[in-house]
Amino acid sequence: MSTTEKFTIDRREVGRLVGTDPGPTLAIVAGIHGNEPAGIHAARRVFARLERGDIRTRGEFIVFAGNVASLNLGIRYQVKDLNRCWSEDQVRELSTKTEKDAEDLEQVELLAALDAAVGRSRGRVHIGDFHTTSASGIPFVLFGDTLPQRQFVRVFPLPIIMGLEELVDGVLASYWTRRNCVAFSCEGGQHDDPASIDSLEAVLWLALEEAGVTPRGLPEALAGAELLNTQRGNIPRVLEVLERRAITENDAFRMEPGFRNLDNAHEGRLLARDRNGDIRAPSDGIVMLPLYQGLGSDGFFWGRGVSQTRMKAIDVLRQVGVDRLLGLLPGVKRDDANPERLVLRRAAAKLYPRDVFNFFGYRKAKNHGEHLTLERSGS
Ligand SMILES: [Zn+2]
Repeated sequence: MSTTEKFTIDRREVGRLVGTDPGPTLAIVAGIHGNEPAGIHAARRVFARLERGDIRTRGEFIVFAGNVASLNLGIRYQVKDLNRCWSEDQVRELSTKTEKDAEDLEQVELLAALDAAVGRSRGRVHIGDFHTTSASGIPFVLFGDTLPQRQFVRVFPLPIIMGLEELVDGVLASYWTRRNCVAFSCEGGQHDDPASIDSLEAVLWLALEEAGVTPRGLPEALAGAELLNTQRGNIPRVLEVLERRAITENDAFRMEPGFRNLDNAHEGRLLARDRNGDIRAPSDGIVMLPLYQGLGSDGFFWGRGVSQTRMKAIDVLRQVGVDRLLGLLPGVKRDDANPERLVLRRAAAKLYPRDVFNFFGYRKAKNHGEHLTLERSGS
């Protein structure tokens, strides 16, 4: 089925399956951007298969349409991006707003539906947010860099990108990470490519298995792993974001043509131009999510592959709590109000390689004059 056919949906809940035994929850949001219905097609296929009744399930599997009105209009959103309004402040203000715009109304319903799913769960709650992209390219997974999330996303044989969600404010998955859910986002491929539906279906089967809703070793999950495994090409399995190229309208930013969603770039390669001149790759690395269409505040993200050895080292050091020691370094203290935020004196910030903090997930940097804060999603 092509996603270019006129898509209609009459309710937020795409499907719900309650298992024979109590257990974990997998809740998926698909189409939070209304021009991205592929995840809903994928979910319908999975529900159709599960409804045959021969697969024993535990807990609950539920899928919601994200932006119902925009899905029916076939547009990304009407007033504002529904995947940029999930900061605590925005969610708090939502309930007191007297004049709600189209996306506020969607968010009120979606929030209530997800809250209800979390509330009735008798096990761990996993939340996935499914997207597709305008540019072509292989599917990939994004997640906030916490230990449970790192462990969960390893089931997907796709490039998995850590640290990007933390750099973008108001993302749905980050909101649920802060609520102790295991959250991730998935970009399934190009909007209108039928292969994107196949990829997201594969991601669903693997997520169901890893969450513990379906038993291990289902043929659907094995086939899904095989399908995704063939798509990764020459992109490393695990990527970390080192930098977000933030842009404003005044920068006259122009990405060089030809980059895919994830693309290798050698040191010195021309990536983009702006009013100050050429922007070149600072080292061998990976360009992520280059901006080609319309306006946005992210020009591109810059990152690198992470070796298995480094991943293992990080896991071990985080499991034994070495990261707690960061707050004891001279010139560094943990924020009293937020244990996942470090406050560095400016002079001290220069003493330590930023990589030490990246290593433990502290990637979101903010300047406050004399101080610099570095924040992460959780341990
Ligand atoms: Zn999207």
